[in-house]
Amino acid sequence: MTNDTSFHSVSLENIPSEESDKIQMTERELGFAKIVFGLPVEGPFDYRVPEGLKSSVEIGKRVWVNFGKRRLVGFVVGFARESDCDDVKNIEAVIDEYPLLDDKMLELTKWISQRYLCSWGQAIASALPAGLRHGKTQMQTRSAAVEDYDLEDCDEKSPTAHQSRALDEITRAIDKKASEVFLLHGITGSGKTEVYLQAIKKAKGVGRSSIVLVPEIALTPQTAERFKSRFGNENVFVFHSKMLDSQRFLLWHKIRSQKTAIVVGARSAIFSPVKNLGLIVIDEEHENTYKQEDAPRYNTKDVAIERARLQGACVILGSATPSIESYYSAQKKEFKLLKLPERIQQRGLPLVSVVDMRQQKRSKQRPEIFSFALEQEIGNALQKKEQVMLFLNRRGFSTFVHCRKCGHVISCKSCSVTLTFHKQSGKLVCHYCNNKTEPPSICPKCQSSYMGYFGIGTQRIENEVSRLFPEARIARMDTDALSKRDAHQKILSSFKKQQIDILIGTQMIAKGLDFPNVTLVGVVSADVSLNLPDFRSAERTFNLLTQVGGRAGRGQLKGRVIVQTYSPDHYAIESAKHHDYDEFYKKEIENRKCTDFPPFTNIINVTVRAKKQEKAKDAILELKNLVDSAKTDSEVEILGPSPCIVEKMRGQYRWSMLLRSRKIDESVNLLKKGLSKFKKPSGVYVAVDVDPL
Ligand SMILES: [Zn+2]
Ligand SMILES: [Zn+2]
Repeated sequence: MTNDTSFHSVSLENIPSEESDKIQMTERELGFAKIVFGLPVEGPFDYRVPEGLKSSVEIGKRVWVNFGKRRLVGFVVGFARESDCDDVKNIEAVIDEYPLLDDKMLELTKWISQRYLCSWGQAIASALPAGLRHGKTQMQTRSAAVEDYDLEDCDEKSPTAHQSRALDEITRAIDKKASEVFLLHGITGSGKTEVYLQAIKKAKGVGRSSIVLVPEIALTPQTAERFKSRFGNENVFVFHSKMLDSQRFLLWHKIRSQKTAIVVGARSAIFSPVKNLGLIVIDEEHENTYKQEDAPRYNTKDVAIERARLQGACVILGSATPSIESYYSAQKKEFKLLKLPERIQQRGLPLVSVVDMRQQKRSKQRPEIFSFALEQEIGNALQKKEQVMLFLNRRGFSTFVHCRKCGHVISCKSCSVTLTFHKQSGKLVCHYCNNKTEPPSICPKCQSSYMGYFGIGTQRIENEVSRLFPEARIARMDTDALSKRDAHQKILSSFKKQQIDILIGTQMIAKGLDFPNVTLVGVVSADVSLNLPDFRSAERTFNLLTQVGGRAGRGQLKGRVIVQTYSPDHYAIESAKHHDYDEFYKKEIENRKCTDFPPFTNIINVTVRAKKQEKAKDAILELKNLVDSAKTDSEVEILGPSPCIVEKMRGQYRWSMLLRSRKIDESVNLLKKGLSKFKKPSGVYVAVDVDPL
């Protein structure tokens, strides 16, 4: 490799805006281009601009270059008069007619690379539609057509008093071109979407574009329908799940050519090339799906806030159960809190009953799945030809140990997270600090000997429902049952047409769906999510109970929710029962403060994987030592390393450690230092996740 592989930062002043074409013309004469790649290599790397390409190489365009022994697509991010490398290669060819990225997008992707520890090129690649990460030209991708949805007209509704108040605040900010973040806390069924629609209308009225993000790409068509019927087919651009790469690019190109556009899509739509951005809406802002799982592991919410800041736009984060971090930001007045505390049309909230599973009599005929109360209510609903949703948050691999008599769960004394049972070793393990203990045979709290291993899946629930209600039409919706791409949509549409009586599922069925004939929601076990080995388990449980509960009684019929649990007194369950977010927040934020978890600290998760267990373990220990010795006066705490919850996955052993600090920059810098000294053995992979979920 003749290129210098150390990191040269390119000052952003080198990046031109539309007005500074002249400056760029002279810079282009300088002879060297700074190029980054969609790979985990830092860069930028220097390449010579040959005479013949001087008029066509521009910042934001893609070029073909040789990198080592490979021919690669690179992104031009700057120019230079001189180069420190002695053997600089030429740019081979220019791919694009016009720059794909403007200065703001370059600035945003650079911010992502610094915040989430990936290369600038990786951040740029993730901001472009798949086809453009490689060498395809605009012409090659222009063939496919974008499919349209049928329109159905629904009229604009006059806002309620609470909706009006929220809208006043938002429109005031849009008028001022202020970059404000609003947290719209509206209970389920309170009409958050109507606020989004009218805020977008306002933005459109003053010539500004909007981006609307939904938590799951499968939900996009439903949301998009509502937006299209309000704003017309020609103004709404939808990234949906059935799109081919070529269609995605065509749409990207179309959006780019609009003066104003309304874009609807899942998280990657945050990078839509809209002009005159005025508003970004993030619906169900608490959802995990806004976090990108592969590098760069960005959090869409933070990217949205940064993009809005760069472009003077507003952000609306909407949720019935805001994330603790967002609500905390609102309490600190970093976000402006807007509340919709009532359901529209005076529909009441569903009645929530909690069933204490410790009191249930069990036998072979009555396994621990259904209480009498839930079984009876399912029977009643079926008789009245109403529909039922049964819900289990199944993260099947985590089994915990609890007392069936008093409900006590065995957790780590130093990390206050539930311990996970490992079949292989027969031990209980803490996934934060790697403490190991024998599972107790006697309850440490009540001294009973009814200790049990807990872990049920949706499949077992389905079997039990078919046994109890052989006449009922049942469907199961979880990731196992959804291997086919369209299966999700099909199940939902037959459920809507009332061709299914009972829908069983994981949290997937809790997301923003509206089925007026559903009167009963059963949460088979609140304990599964309550005892995930994760500091967010209480928050997740409260969210899930509220969201699934919100599915009941959306129409004329009154809704009912039954929650089965061994911990009926837990504050997450009590607050969900009373529909009281504020009560939950008060307790949870206290807990976070005591245990030193976010929002009071920031966390970075580092995972190492390798085919051999020893190799993974040795590598992470080595990395930990390097990070440790780079520590001077920084207050970064290192937890672990420990094996991941699922230690072996796809033939690879995985170990991880956490870095925790009050200031994110401290952890990021420390980890960078450690990683720069780390000599990664071949066959070892390192993944860094900033603010993991
Ligand atoms: Zn007990
Ligand atoms: Zn621990």
